[in-house]
Amino acid sequence: MLNKFTRLITFVDLPIKKKFTLFSLSVLFWFVVMFVISIAANININNKTGGSVREVTTLTFYIFTGVLLIATALLVIFTISISKAIARPVNLITGQIRALGEGKVDFTKKIDISSEDEIGALSKSFNTLMDEIHDLNTFKKVIEEDDNIEDVYSRLGRAFSDKIGLNEFIIYEVSNGQKMRPVYPIILNDKDIFCSEEILHNCELCKVKKTGHIISSVEYPDICRQFIPGLDKLHVCIPMIIGGKTGGVVQFLFDKKNYSVDGKDRRLFKAERYIKESLSVIEAKRLTNTLRESALKDSLTGLYNRRFLQEYTETLVAGVLRRQKSVGLMMCDLDFFKQVNDFYGHNVGDSVLKETSEIIKKCVRSSDLVIRFGGEEFLVLMLDINAGETVKVADKIRDAVEKTKIKVSDGVIKKTISLGVSEFPVDTESFWQAIKFADVALYKAKETGRNRVVRFHETMWTAKEF
Ligand code: GH3
Ligand code: MG
Ligand code: MG
Repeated sequence: MLNKFTRLITFVDLPIKKKFTLFSLSVLFWFVVMFVISIAANININNKTGGSVREVTTLTFYIFTGVLLIATALLVIFTISISKAIARPVNLITGQIRALGEGKVDFTKKIDISSEDEIGALSKSFNTLMDEIHDLNTFKKVIEEDDNIEDVYSRLGRAFSDKIGLNEFIIYEVSNGQKMRPVYPIILNDKDIFCSEEILHNCELCKVKKTGHIISSVEYPDICRQFIPGLDKLHVCIPMIIGGKTGGVVQFLFDKKNYSVDGKDRRLFKAERYIKESLSVIEAKRLTNTLRESALKDSLTGLYNRRFLQEYTETLVAGVLRRQKSVGLMMCDLDFFKQVNDFYGHNVGDSVLKETSEIIKKCVRSSDLVIRFGGEEFLVLMLDINAGETVKVADKIRDAVEKTKIKVSDGVIKKTISLGVSEFPVDTESFWQAIKFADVALYKAKETGRNRVVRFHETMWTAKEF
């Protein structure tokens, strides 16, 4: 490192143009001074020794040439050293850019900042740029490894606050339907958002969703009607374009008082880069979710299927046991359903199945799980229930099915349903055996006249082993 004095006399920290001018001027100055001194000394010597005018002129010529040579040598040395000082970081930057293009860049390699001139500034900016690219690359790699889309949203949110310093924002996800919902931070109370609640139910009201463009009240106050008026906030809403559509919106908020309106906030440029980096990952994760959903759902009724039960039983059981709660199980089977197919045809049969699944869903809480267990059999899992509750809900389902008139093209169909009820871990410590017990109880309900709810009792189970 150069010390302060050396930096000063070599003009290291001055802009390149000034550096050249000052150095040339100082060489010229030195040259003039030396020249004047030598002429003076020459004349002095000649005065003393009494040389002829010709001799004095020749001597002056030699001195002049000598001084000129030294000055030129100094200029050459200076030019070479400054060219080196410029060429070294420029070569390093070029090398890094080339490596970046080839995907072999070493982000830890920094350009030495040895001066405060344009080259120093260029090196500094280049180092910052490389750091930003490195951060973005790492961010993308990490979110690609994330297990689910919620982790991706939360990592994106943390990048806004930790890496960019944007602390007030909401990430909204736009679903395939009409809805949009805050996914980071997860806001449960609609009152805590800065837009009219209506956008959550009708995403087309959101200007960003509709146009796919950035909507900012920084440049145009009151640009969006959905943004609650009278707040001391500015908003910049950026779309997340996924698969050609607005798949999400990030709303950044700023205090009106503290926000400088000159030019676009550099932090927002950075935020946009993070958003862009995350889009392909979000799209891929959403696709996986959709595929998973469709693999775990029954296409006719939209209910979960048996595969879902197999995949989630372990997690479900562990949660219930940890909370020291029970699961109410209901095995439901339509009575004489075959007749519907036989009389009205398979399509009408399908409509009856759909209608039944809707009735069951309406009778239970949204946190309960309704599974299409077989053809016209449904398994309902009521999580964290109180003793005796399952039978009551089962009877509600039975009653609702009995009372429903299902409209079909040929008129109206009325069906009944039988239900077998068991409870886990009240009846057995094995979850799969509890399902079996509900099935045994259902069999009893069928045996004893149908359109009934039967609670499992151990006397119904004679088999020694499951
Ligand atoms: P029970 O009261 O003893 O339950 O009589 P059931 O007629 O309901 O029972 P059974 O097991 O004899 O018949 C069930 C019928 O359900 C047979 C099958 O054709 C029909 N089924 C199964 N899956 C579907 C489906 O996806 N769509 C339609 N339309 N019918 C189905
Ligand atoms: Mg049946
Ligand atoms: Mg059946």
